[in-house]
Amino acid sequence: MTPKAALKHYFGYTEFKAGQKKVIDLLLEHKNTLALLPTGGGKSLCYQIPALLEDGLTLVISPLISLMKDQVDSLQQNGIPAAFINSSQEFETAKAVLTRARRHELKLLYIAPERLENQFFLELLQTLPVSLVAVDEAHCISQWGHDFRPSYLKLPALLAQLPVSPTLVALTATATPQVAQDIKELLMIPAENEVKTSFARDNLTFKLIKGTDFEHYLLSYLKQNPNDSGIIYASTRKKVEQLGIMLNKMGIKAGIYHAGLSELQRRESQEDFLYDRTPIMVATNAFGMGIDKSNVRFVIHAQVPGSLEAYYQEAGRAGRDGLPSEAILFYKDADLQVQRFFIDNSQADEQHREFDYQKLQALTRYANTEECLQRFLVQYFGQDCPDCQKCTNCTDTREKQDITKEAQMIMSCIVRMQSRFGKKIVAQVLAGSKAKRILELNFDQLSTYGIMHQKTKEIETLIDFLTASGYLKTSSGQFPTLHVTQTGLAVLRNQAKVYARSEKAERNSKQRVESGLFEHLRKLRRQLAEAQHVPPFVIF
Ligand code: ADP
Ligand code: MG
Repeated sequence: MTPKAALKHYFGYTEFKAGQKKVIDLLLEHKNTLALLPTGGGKSLCYQIPALLEDGLTLVISPLISLMKDQVDSLQQNGIPAAFINSSQEFETAKAVLTRARRHELKLLYIAPERLENQFFLELLQTLPVSLVAVDEAHCISQWGHDFRPSYLKLPALLAQLPVSPTLVALTATATPQVAQDIKELLMIPAENEVKTSFARDNLTFKLIKGTDFEHYLLSYLKQNPNDSGIIYASTRKKVEQLGIMLNKMGIKAGIYHAGLSELQRRESQEDFLYDRTPIMVATNAFGMGIDKSNVRFVIHAQVPGSLEAYYQEAGRAGRDGLPSEAILFYKDADLQVQRFFIDNSQADEQHREFDYQKLQALTRYANTEECLQRFLVQYFGQDCPDCQKCTNCTDTREKQDITKEAQMIMSCIVRMQSRFGKKIVAQVLAGSKAKRILELNFDQLSTYGIMHQKTKEIETLIDFLTASGYLKTSSGQFPTLHVTQTGLAVLRNQAKVYARSEKAERNSKQRVESGLFEHLRKLRRQLAEAQHVPPFVIF
């Protein structure tokens, strides 16, 4: 049977999705392969079809127990002998499954990576007639991935000890170039056997929402899209519960899911969602890996997740059926604190913590970019694509102004003054105020004194803007001090630019619509130009 005939015969589809055929062909030639296909790209079929066409057993390493059962159920419904082994089973059941596998009665055997930790199972697995090993969600093997599972590291040893060396395929939708490299090295996949299709999700519209009240936004969104199924992600169990209660109070049917619920509760909640009994799921990131619900029309992040990898994977659960869907990120600077808290309190060592901070940083850059959001994400994963023309950045018609220079002046001043002062003083120093308390400051902090000459009001507006956009932050407490964030530091180092938007000025109209910030900016520019002597500003 050809792969195409198998596609029709077992799964009822007539055409392959992008990349599927290439992966299947490589595997039929017994070449170790890395498949980088987007969420919903049909990665499962890439190993299921070779499993059916080849002799021997296909071992599938899959990280989620609930998912495993669903996959096996649906394979069995298609008449394919498949089974799974995971920790939820009785020992006897697992042993019976292994016996069937050894007798060549199974085509596919799914196992949870944690089983590889068990020496007894490992030895049993080594007696199986394995011809293909599929490592699903393969980014879990990389320490640089966003969901590292140490058990995955047991894989190379298992592979080495199998009686006949099997072909291997690693599959993932979220690998940065570094993670892809890691997977290839650890699993011995030659560079040329990487199959990569565009990571762009053409049917998704990415939206970035800032500066509004989330609950208000959510309610009006759900009102406008009353029959749609969607997922709302929040960072903490508490927030999930609170949103769940709020929605149900408003008469909107929503289930909740997080790791603090019992297994039964989680299973019920997941099934109610999968079978469209509750259209909306409010969840932490515990929900969704590998969930194959095709008609999810929106994924809304109430709070920022910890990385762009996590974001793209979670957002990617929208529109798996290819129909237009939305991925909405609600961004608030304060929510970054939640993620920082997670990092600070994680078990990770210093180096990984630093790495997690960098990931969070990338997310902040996404939240502040003026570029096409889809393109930004695709570039993050080492590819490129045209601007999508439909994300909130592509469709933003407001005038854009480069305010990098002004931002650098403000940040330099803050850094020079060792982040010990608040907005008022910083603005006064930059403006060159003659106020007594400013003149009394005597350290070399004053090298930025007067570089923005005159009006403090305008500078304060700019500081507010930079704070709201995540370039600056203020400490809490009675006398809040200004600090430059990691995002801001990138600007100081000339690695990123800062733009401000204003309502597009109506041409030929006297009533120009301008935001307060722009008015201030114009004044400031005028003043800077008029100033006779502008000391060189210092970039830290
Ligand atoms: P991934 O693991 O890449 O996120 P899945 O393997 O779960 O994606 O597949 C996503 C959906 O696409 C499933 O419902 C699957 O049945 C469907 N699918 C896979 N391949 C094809 C194909 N060639 N034609 C149509 N639908 C497909
Ligand atoms: Mg999958």
